[in-house]
Order: sequence, then structure tokens, then C-alpha cells
Amino acid sequence: MRKTTDVLIIGGGPAGLAAAMALGRMLRTALVCDDSRPRNAASSHANNLPGFDGIHPAEWRAKVRQELTKYKTVSFFDGAVLSVTGEDQLFVATLANGERRSFRKVILAHGIVDRLPEVTGFHELWGQSVFHCPYCHGFEVRGKRLGVVANGKFAEHLTPMVGALSADVILFTQGKSQLAPTTLATFQKRGFQIVESAITALEYKAEKLEAVICGPDLRFNRDALFLGPIPPLIMKSAIGETLGCEKNEMGFYKVDEMRRTTVPGVFAGGDIMSMAHSVAGAMAAGQMAGAGAVMELVTT
Ligand SMILES: Cc1cc2nc3c(=O)[nH]c(=O)nc-3n(C[C@H](O)[C@H](O)[C@H](O)COP(=O)(O)OP(=O)(O)OC[C@H]3O[C@@H](n4cnc5c(N)ncnc54)[C@H](O)[C@@H]3O)c2cc1C
Repeated sequence: MRKTTDVLIIGGGPAGLAAAMALGRMLRTALVCDDSRPRNAASSHANNLPGFDGIHPAEWRAKVRQELTKYKTVSFFDGAVLSVTGEDQLFVATLANGERRSFRKVILAHGIVDRLPEVTGFHELWGQSVFHCPYCHGFEVRGKRLGVVANGKFAEHLTPMVGALSADVILFTQGKSQLAPTTLATFQKRGFQIVESAITALEYKAEKLEAVICGPDLRFNRDALFLGPIPPLIMKSAIGETLGCEKNEMGFYKVDEMRRTTVPGVFAGGDIMSMAHSVAGAMAAGQMAGAGAVMELVTT
């Protein structure tokens, strides 16, 4: 096996790349492993990203990787990390090319999987007319006929935000509404229509939503939908779970302010440890995970 590398970064999205930059700037050796399944792959614009608002996500990742070439202690492996064993100061990872490499610390930055309803249209329109977040894609559809697909507390959170972008909002609860009575009253006052029938199809043309269909008789003309998360949260890699990292009630890895998980030597950044699901949010958490790893490397 090669000489031990300071940090294994699992994931080369915003969180992993930001962690790599923090490590590179402090002359720590790091290997960023990425198997090319970025969460925003379906989207052609990364919005709400100061300095690069609207950039193509792939272009942004390529730009950061180019910037990282300046840091000679940071290297890349374009493939999956299959497993990690060991403990603080000596973790051993097996990579998809069969290589086994040793690391002192591990940063989990592998992101999450989006679960979509298994109904015609959701997969086809994901990132085009069906979105996960009004901050990321709401401005572009402001004033249009919008829908929210969620129920319970997610609906209570998401619907008023979408209502800030348009006066024409329908909430599709996909079953009996689980809204609190006070929320229901507020939604009615604000003019949000609530549809409890299950969605049976989305009608669309050229990746543009035209209507939401609920059974044989109900058709609602809509231009875009915002989809609440469908629990349980699914991680893109089970490595953190295998290492024993604990999760909170939402399914995110528990971390402290330095992004340390509950397993010594293992850090987490990005979508897997908080609800702040954005490129900038993931970068901030990844950068702090990198800083947390540096802190431990230089003090132990
Ligand atoms: C359709 C869509 C559009 C979006 N648009 C925006 C937007 O406009 N603006 C915005 O701010 N946010 C947007 N987001 C949210 C944003 O994409 C995420 O918050 C952000 O990408 C999270 O970064 P991350 O680094 O945590 O994870 P990811 O970006 O998902 O990156 C994780 C990386 O880890 C890799 N990986 C996973 N497991 C392994 C393994 N075992 N070995 C090696 N590599 C592995 C994956 O291949 C992936 O490349 C969007 C999300 C979606 C779903």
C-alpha cells in the first residue's frame, strides 16, 4: 500500500471540493473520490450561487477542479470508494479500481438520493419543471401557475414559500391532508387550493409541464411543481453507516460545529448532514469539515 494520505474525501460535489480546497491550502494531502452522480445532474443551471448565479453545474465543478490543480497535495480518483474500515489515524479504503489506500481522516461528502413519485412525468421533468427548492428554481417561474406536492409539515413549510412567488398555487397532498387546522385556515385565507386526490400523471411537452392529472376526472393546468422530500432520506453511500456514524431523527448524520460525526476521525459535509440543501450551503459545510480535519491533523 502507498504512504498514508491525510484525508479521504468521499464525493466531489460542492461539499467535497470545498473540503479539498481547505485541506490543500493547509498543505494536507487529500484524495477526492467521485463517481459522477451529482445531485443537480438533471439541472442546467445552478442558481442562488453568488458570483456564479445560473452557471451550468458541470461547468462550476470543472472550474473548481481546475482551481484545485494549484494545490499539489490534492489529488483525484474518478470512481467510487467501495468501502472504508479502520479507525481514527488509520482508515483503509477500497477503491473501484481495486486499489487499497490508507488515510488518517475521512470526510463523507457523498450527497443524497432524491426519491420521486413513481408516476409518469416526475422523472422526465425533474430539474426542468419539477423542482426540489424554491430558492434554487422559483425565481424563474415566478408569477406562473405553480404546484406544491407535499403533505404535513413539509407542506406547511414549502407552500407559503412557493406562495411568495405566485398568487396561483395548488397544494397536492396526495391523500388526506395532514395540515394542522390553523395552517389549513391560513392557507384557505391566502387562496391556496388543496387537492387531496393522488396524482396519476403529469402531462408535458418538451420538458415543460402542462398539467397535473389526478385520476380520470381531475386536470389542473400547471407550469411548475415543487416537490417536498419523500422520507426516509437515502444516502448515496452507506460507508458512514457502516463506520457507525449516528443519524438524527431526520436521517442526517449528527455533526458538531467542526462537522465531526459521532465516529472519531470521520467528518461529514453537504446535503447529508443538514437541511441546507444548496451548492453554497454544501460548500460551507464541506469547507468546515476540511477545517475540522486540518485541526485534528495538526494537533494530534
Ligand atoms: C434537480 C436539482 C437542482 C438543483 N439546483 C440547485 C441550484 O440551482 N442551486 C443550488 O444552490 N442548489 C441546487 N440543488 C441542490 C444542490 O445540488 C445540492 O445541495 C448540492 O449538490 C449538494 O452538494 P453535496 O456535495 O453534498 O452532494 P452532491 O452534489 O450530490 O455530490 C456528491 C458526490 O459524491 C459522489 N459519491 C457518492 N458516493 C460516492 C462513493 N461511494 N464514492 C465516490 N463518490 C461518491 C457522487 O457521485 C456525487 O458526485 C439542486 C438539486 C437538485 C436535485
